[in-house]
Amino acid sequence: MKQNKNPGRRAKADLPEKICLICQRPFRWRKKWETIWNDVKYCSDKCRMNRNKKIVNVY
Ligand SMILES: [Zn+2]
Repeated sequence: MKQNKNPGRRAKADLPEKICLICQRPFRWRKKWETIWNDVKYCSDKCRMNRNKKIVNVY
């Protein structure tokens, strides 16, 4: 009998990490970012909005 390996299994430590431009904290790859990961620069919507706020504040 042969044992099948389980492909498509991902270890947590395997996930890529980035540093948030706003809070400077590392954050990990998330499923919801899988198509836009290259463009992700902030750990959360909160940080992303912080960045937008600065721009919006300039009237
Ligand atoms: Zn952040």
